[in-house]
Amino acid sequence: MTQPLVDPFQRAITYLRVSVTDRCDFRCVYCMAENMTFLPKKELLTLEELDRMCSTFVRLGVRKLRITGGEPLVRRDIMTFFRSMSRHLDSGALEELTLTTNGSQLERFAADLYAAGVRRVNVSLDTLDEEKFARVTRWGRLPQVLRGLDAAQAAGLKVKLNAVALKGFNEDEVETLTRFCATRGMDLTWIEVMPMGDLGNEDRVGQYWSMKDLRARLSESYTLTDLPESTGGPARYVRLEETGQKIGFITPLSHNFCESCNRVRMTCTGELYMCLGQEDMMDLRPALRNHPGNDAPLEQAIRQAIGLKPEGHDFDYSRQRADGQVSRHMSHTGG
Ligand code: SF4
Repeated sequence: MTQPLVDPFQRAITYLRVSVTDRCDFRCVYCMAENMTFLPKKELLTLEELDRMCSTFVRLGVRKLRITGGEPLVRRDIMTFFRSMSRHLDSGALEELTLTTNGSQLERFAADLYAAGVRRVNVSLDTLDEEKFARVTRWGRLPQVLRGLDAAQAAGLKVKLNAVALKGFNEDEVETLTRFCATRGMDLTWIEVMPMGDLGNEDRVGQYWSMKDLRARLSESYTLTDLPESTGGPARYVRLEETGQKIGFITPLSHNFCESCNRVRMTCTGELYMCLGQEDMMDLRPALRNHPGNDAPLEQAIRQAIGLKPEGHDFDYSRQRADGQVSRHMSHTGG
């Protein structure tokens, strides 16, 4: 029997988030510069390598796989990867295969995703105002995303919206977004980002808006009941008594979830980040590429990495690079 992955603080690692590309068809102002230089193709894990990597994690006890980016659905042939991962769902080794997307390609891929065993998707959407959407995403068009949401629901996928809370930008849309989700039977999660004053971004569209303030805003219109459930991640949930909806709040740098943390993240080049709030990582690519056909060194490297998972993040903002990358994984993948 393969020993499952357990970190030095006795937390079982059962959740892997995998970025399959650094590219995106949007240029959200809090995430990317307009003229981005992306990684050369040879740096990226091939689809076969991604398969080998993820399958090794599944063999070591990962039960939930979330595919992220950039925008995962812009990676060429990505459906081949999803289809191939579905064998782990079929075998029962994997409980859930899911993704976080900007929704732009859902119209095209929703049915294929469902066929590959995906049942839930998180769609990042900060505003329902067409003009504001164009402003925040630079290249995105709202109607395309709305058609994507329709397609996803029509295909049978359960959709959750992730909205980044931006003061002065979508503050006035708390109710609109809540109602939108209520009428469509979608969950909604708000994500707090770090103060963004120093991103060096001329296109600033909003500012730090704390979850505390957002909650207060919501409670002006609804009765909020705290829900005890936790997913081992940074989200906390409430129920709105008037609508029965579940609303999530993600405060990525709060400490309150570290003790139940069950997750690690891998970049599209095979770097494994053990903790959202720290930049320590292990490059798994050499163990993968230097030993084709032999997964033992990779397994060993993964175990070694998990052995380095810190107890919690140190909350020291100075360790974070304020260049938007940290902001991306918080805003786009939500921890
Ligand atoms: S936040 Fe998401 S949708 Fe926007 S540019 Fe970044 S990866 Fe793309």
